[in-house]
Amino acid sequence: MGSPPQLSELERAQALVKAKVSRQERARVKNQVKSNELSISEVLELASRNEAIAKMRVLELIESKSGVGKIRGKAILEKLGISQTRRLQGLGRHQRTQLLKEFSAPSILTRGRLIVLSGPGGVGKSTVAKKLRQESPFLVSVSATTRPPRFNEEDGVDYLFFSKDQFDAAIKEGTFLEWAEFAGNRYGTPFAPVEKALSSGKSVLLEIEIEGAKQVKAKMPEALLVFLEPPTWEELVSRLEGRGTDSPERRAARLALAQEEMAAASFFDKVLTNDQVEKVVASLIEFASA
Ligand code: ADP
Ligand code: 5GP
Repeated sequence: MGSPPQLSELERAQALVKAKVSRQERARVKNQVKSNELSISEVLELASRNEAIAKMRVLELIESKSGVGKIRGKAILEKLGISQTRRLQGLGRHQRTQLLKEFSAPSILTRGRLIVLSGPGGVGKSTVAKKLRQESPFLVSVSATTRPPRFNEEDGVDYLFFSKDQFDAAIKEGTFLEWAEFAGNRYGTPFAPVEKALSSGKSVLLEIEIEGAKQVKAKMPEALLVFLEPPTWEELVSRLEGRGTDSPERRAARLALAQEEMAAASFFDKVLTNDQVEKVVASLIEFASA
């Protein structure tokens, strides 16, 4: 590779001014996208005649659309097979068509419903989630965790079982919509499958603990947060014991945590009592179609 061109002081100053003007131009266009004055298709058209806009990254453009933001923007690009560093001038014909399709009005109008199910450990969340997976066209998200598998759990079905290093790497890469630590292990929701389902009109259920639920509400305020409570405290203790998956020490730790978790119900949009799994499943299906 040859050495970079030697610029005179004047040429350097001119290049700096040009770069500044280009940045300002991109910022103006992004603001217009944000306020819906310009559509994605109008920006693509502009890019064909304006060098500064042609150099804008696709990610920058879609992130500036209201309701998209950083995490959702990355997931949309992943779904469309467009690299996060791709610039508008580098989009292929197929990628351009996919991008326009993604942001055409009907696909936004028919987004699926995001429902977050939380509640104290042992209340029956995973039992409900399993039943929902069998009975309805919901996507029940599969979380990643650093917890070791229980005897009856399958990798890729109940959880994605990650090592601590794999989990660290996934956090760094921005894979998760949310993640939290619970009873000494980490749990996280991979965002890409969630976004893919929602944007294709499918409702999604996240079965996660309370800190994670709060993170989801902060990032996606349209999410419906549902708290599952036991019919009585005694019933919760008996379900945790009956499950037979935890040692007495772990059970005691989970019960102590459950007491704290019960106090969080008021933060949630809806509270359901898990006296019958079928009834809870029916309510969730009803919330999704409301
Ligand atoms: P969580 O995922 O909230 O920790 P689980 O789904 O593992 O809870 O359920 C804990 C135990 O309670 C399991 O043994 C499950 O079979 C039982 N269980 C769940 N829902 C009900 C219900 N409505 N009535 C009776 N037992 C239930
Ligand atoms: P368990 O170890 O019993 O399967 O799960 C422990 C807790 O972690 C439960 O409250 C469960 O809902 C929660 N959990 C499972 N997946 C996730 C996740 O992706 N994110 C968060 N924040 N919590 C999760």
